Amino acid sequence: MPIDHYAVFGHPIKHSKSPRIHSLFAEQTGQNLQYNAQDVPAEQFAAAVAAFFADGGKGLNCTIPLKELAWAYAEVKTERAQLSKAVNTLALQADGSVLGDNTDGIGLVTDLVHNHGIALTARRVLVLGAGGASRGIIAPLLEQSVHSITIANRTVDKSMQLAAEFAHKGAVTGCGFSELAGQTFDLIINATASSLTAELPPLPAGLLAAQGSCYDLAYGNDKTVFVRWGEDQHAHKSVDGLGMLVEQAAVAFALWRGVHPDTQAVITLLNAERVG
Ligand code: NAP
Repeated sequence: MPIDHYAVFGHPIKHSKSPRIHSLFAEQTGQNLQYNAQDVPAEQFAAAVAAFFADGGKGLNCTIPLKELAWAYAEVKTERAQLSKAVNTLALQADGSVLGDNTDGIGLVTDLVHNHGIALTARRVLVLGAGGASRGIIAPLLEQSVHSITIANRTVDKSMQLAAEFAHKGAVTGCGFSELAGQTFDLIINATASSLTAELPPLPAGLLAAQGSCYDLAYGNDKTVFVRWGEDQHAHKSVDGLGMLVEQAAVAFALWRGVHPDTQAVITLLNAERVG
């Protein structure tokens, strides 16, 4: 039987763990597929996706900075993708159309609640960043009955706009980093791309409530600067986004292949690999 092709597109993409994760899922579930990483800058996105599917590709993941472009590309969208206006998973359908989904939110919530035991109900949540990743996580967090979400971004207009888009779903406000002074949050989620360049958003002291936790969507072999910042703030837990990466990948894999892999086994393996 011919092998089915999948890929992740992003820019940069060199350090992506997605090919490894999907290979492990395929091995574990006995699926015959190949999954590659491809460096695709935003200006080449539409042509690269068209070429991938024309060559027989079955499904794509899209990461930084392509999620909003993937949303525009998808001909059909799941409800959560439609709402977020960002897509991280594209799937070729039987009728030839391309379906867009967003599995980031469910991946984050599963990792926070089930893998790390970080409660969300009635918590004051701060989301740093207003890009494609933030778009995917706001509604799923609100659906966990959080007390409120504050979105802070370098480009303030974008956080205000994002908050306005989700205001009908719950208590969401947008602001700049400087407006955070004097406030406290139970959970601070870094959804900026700053960890990729080992930078930290300009965060005022005293932001984290007692027993509060920090979560960085970014991940690496070493602790990210934001995870270290959380530890310096005496966070109850300060963790990176490796678990989210595996959980969102599992939901994408299930959409493509109809089988949900065992995520715990893969998270345990990847954690062991980066410690060594
Ligand atoms: P994106 O659409 O390009 O958005 C980037 C965001 O980061 C924007 O809000 C941008 O602010 C902000 N930013 C960039 N550099 C910054 C800096 N030096 N200081 C402060 N803010 C900065 O990217 P994305 O797709 O949302 O991805 C964001 C991060 O989430 C990446 O690290 C990505 O790897 C990670 N992620 C992880 C997972 C996972 O499964 N673990 C899933 C999704 C995303 P401006 O609007 O002002 O430019």
